[in-house]
Amino acid sequence: MDKNLLKKIKGKLEKEKERLEKTLASFAEKDKKLKGDWDTRMPKMDSGRLEEETDEVEEFSNLLPIENTLELELEKINLALKKIKQEKYGICEKCKEPIPQIRLKIYPQAKYCKKCEVK
Ligand SMILES: [Zn+2]
Repeated sequence: MDKNLLKKIKGKLEKEKERLEKTLASFAEKDKKLKGDWDTRMPKMDSGRLEEETDEVEEFSNLLPIENTLELELEKINLALKKIKQEKYGICEKCKEPIPQIRLKIYPQAKYCKKCEVK
């Protein structure tokens, strides 16, 4: 792959990683025991007002799926960065064919080519 393009993609991935980590940190804590895992902060149940507490529980359950999505995305980005380091970036994990550059430009953390992704 073209070195300049790879550098651009790496920059994009690093920026995206930072953005995701910031978003996650705004409502979740990094799990110290499990690398790459985040835990959404539990609502504090000490306001004494039931209505407020119900809202917070609802917010908590709304955040959980978001946390999972962001976590998965972050994992993909870390993997892509690792592959760049190992000079294995841009190869589809299923068919082992190079992923088209146009796809990598749009979605640099892609693990599969378009054909394998939809399967
Ligand atoms: Zn493929």
